[in-house]
Amino acid sequence: MRERQERKSSGGKWLVLMLLLMMGAGLWLFLGQEQESEAQETPPVQAVMAPEIAAGGVKVLVLNYHKIDNKHHSLSVLPADFESQLKYLSDHGYHSISPDELFEGLAGTGALPENPVLITFDDGYKDNYTTAFPLLKKYGFKATIFVVTSFLGQKSQYFTWEQAREMEKEGISIQSHTATHRSMTDLSDEQLRAELVESKKKAEEELGHPVEYMAYPTGTYNLHIAEMVKEAGYKAAFTIKYGNVDEASNIYALERVPVFHTANTNKDFLERIRYTPIFEKFGWTKS
Ligand SMILES: [Zn+2]
Repeated sequence: MRERQERKSSGGKWLVLMLLLMMGAGLWLFLGQEQESEAQETPPVQAVMAPEIAAGGVKVLVLNYHKIDNKHHSLSVLPADFESQLKYLSDHGYHSISPDELFEGLAGTGALPENPVLITFDDGYKDNYTTAFPLLKKYGFKATIFVVTSFLGQKSQYFTWEQAREMEKEGISIQSHTATHRSMTDLSDEQLRAELVESKKKAEEELGHPVEYMAYPTGTYNLHIAEMVKEAGYKAAFTIKYGNVDEASNIYALERVPVFHTANTNKDFLERIRYTPIFEKFGWTKS
């Protein structure tokens, strides 16, 4: 008798398990279909989901671009895609901030707006001035450009110091991306110091204000390099380590979310900015 009851109850357990499995499979199919239909969508960026709002504490999205042009290279985001992304940020209540605002927000000496975004560009390409700058102005966004100080005014693919000064009058902050863009992990201490100090000095002379932020060329750095960045007088430095900036971030190794040109740039952009907080929650980024 007892044996039969047990068998009956174990049959019941199986039924429950089967139902759960079926529900799981249904959900999986549903989600799969949703993803597929999203993949078939074409740009512009769709208003699919409200941005993640940090539950207390500082959380800043730092975007990283390089070129805005029609070359279809991974570092070249199309102007139309760039505009869609700015429109998305604008429509979803993002507020652009300067590196000083980020620094003060992290230090607790200044308040950050809701949904803060720091829009950054590396290298100082001419299209940042001709193409990105007018679009940033159109949407009322601030941005930061990390320039290779020996390239400006010397190589034709980069904007000039004159153009840098013009942009600074309208919400663009120009900061350092070193003097010559060599990967910093390959340099001696003397070379490192020169890259950091000379680029800072040159940019300060040209721009007429302190230059206190830098981005590591090619993103490579280590703790020793970070220490030298601090010694050279910078307040913070940016990597290409994927993630959002928050109170747990190292001020000399700040995370960014790179935006690339892909087969579906805007869908990837959305996934990157939407899923970054989820990755972090599960400890998949930030070690
Ligand atoms: Zn670079």
